[in-house]
Amino acid sequence: MHTFYPPVGVDHEIAPRTGTAFSLRAGQTLTVIDPLGRQVSDLLAFSAADPRECISSGRTLDYASRIFLTKPDPLYSNRSNVLLRITADTCGRHDFLLTPCSKDTFRIIYGDAEPHRGCFGNFVEALAPWGIEEDAIPIAFNCFMNVVVDGETGELRVDPPKSKAGDYVSFVAEVDLVVALTACSALQSNGGSFKPIRWRVDDPLQQAI
Ligand SMILES: [Zn+2]
Repeated sequence: MHTFYPPVGVDHEIAPRTGTAFSLRAGQTLTVIDPLGRQVSDLLAFSAADPRECISSGRTLDYASRIFLTKPDPLYSNRSNVLLRITADTCGRHDFLLTPCSKDTFRIIYGDAEPHRGCFGNFVEALAPWGIEEDAIPIAFNCFMNVVVDGETGELRVDPPKSKAGDYVSFVAEVDLVVALTACSALQSNGGSFKPIRWRVDDPLQQAI
């Protein structure tokens, strides 16, 4: 299995409309930061031991009995194991309903003739070294994405994120993971402009040495 452990305790930046992937050890904390505000970051997590196990929107929302998740909610896998747990959240509004934006999103919803590959295409490229192919990509946990739901009709509306500059959401890994992150590429999700995302891995054991 491919591994890439990023430097710990320092901020990394994802350029607008791009993505990245890295290994995260059990016990390490991932913090996703919106440096400028109103920018979504899609997050995926796969078990490093068997990447066929990945975060599951359906199971997580079922067990939470809610669609809006925050600290201290767990993110369950398709095998009902907890992969990540939210440990801090200064924004308080994220989405776990909608699929990563893709060239098909931009073709079908936006009518683009030459669509950008979106978060989905960025995930496919970033996860290729781990052998994770596009049909294995699940619904992402969409950090800072603000999906408003009409409780009566179920109608969905994508509003600008509520995140302000410097807002962050942190997750602790319950098992060894492969994580992929993007700076989302959909205009509607990001208040009309594409901005970077920052992220950091902290390791309580390493920092105690
Ligand atoms: Zn996106």
